[in-house]
Amino acid sequence: MKLILLGPPGAGKGTQAKMLTDEFSIPQISTGDILRAAVKDGTAMGLKAKEYMNAGGLVPDEVVVGIVRDRLQEADCVNGFILDGFPRTVAQADALQASLQGMGKELDRVISLDVDPEALVERLTGRRTCKECGRGYHVKFDPSRQSDVCDACGGALFQRDDDQEETIRKRLQVYADQTSPLISYYKEIGVLLELDGMQPIQIVQEKMLSLLQAS
Ligand code: ADP
Ligand code: AMP
Repeated sequence: MKLILLGPPGAGKGTQAKMLTDEFSIPQISTGDILRAAVKDGTAMGLKAKEYMNAGGLVPDEVVVGIVRDRLQEADCVNGFILDGFPRTVAQADALQASLQGMGKELDRVISLDVDPEALVERLTGRRTCKECGRGYHVKFDPSRQSDVCDACGGALFQRDDDQEETIRKRLQVYADQTSPLISYYKEIGVLLELDGMQPIQIVQEKMLSLLQAS
């Protein structure tokens, strides 16, 4: 299964990707996670990416295209992958098509998650993530049993630097301007499935699985 999860920041891509990795035994490839790891490690790429990320902008196409091209060559992608947060521009989508073609592969499905902008702001301001295992929570919609402690591993939960309201609004505008054209891009290729992302996490998960099984 070679899959893209498409949708604005906060749509639930990461939440649903984690479920799909268990279901299909394929890796989640989140360019946001890879970039945040590079920032944390202080690599040259991380230092460059940090400015764009903190400002709510996009990291240059050539950087993320290179990351994904290399990642898709790794052994765990042989049976498929779930791209989460990539592509985000038409140029990235074109580069992905070229990379896949070079490997003799093609995309199976792109699932577009649709969520109202005001709901996205509430989701992102309340998002918390485990420092140790990366599991995501929401203070209202998916709280941990003990405040700020991960249910799965006991790690501390943190709030992302870019999940502040002003930066969130900038990111939503960047999505509308640069990423939303990918909905018609993939519709034209004939791989798009659209899903209402406004329902509770469990319902979205069930509907996503039945969409994939039916297609
Ligand atoms: P994305 O990866 O698309 O940016 P996330 O999966 O990190 O989004 O979800 C953003 C926040 O919204 C998280 O705190 C998550 O727990 C919460 N969330 C995800 N899906 C839903 C949903 N269907 N309803 C309510 N909250 C959700
Ligand atoms: P995410 O974790 O997907 O919300 O991404 C966090 C931030 O990382 C984004 O706001 C961008 O600055 C950067 N980023 C992640 N993926 C991409 C991408 N495909 N293209 C450009 N920038 C990206």
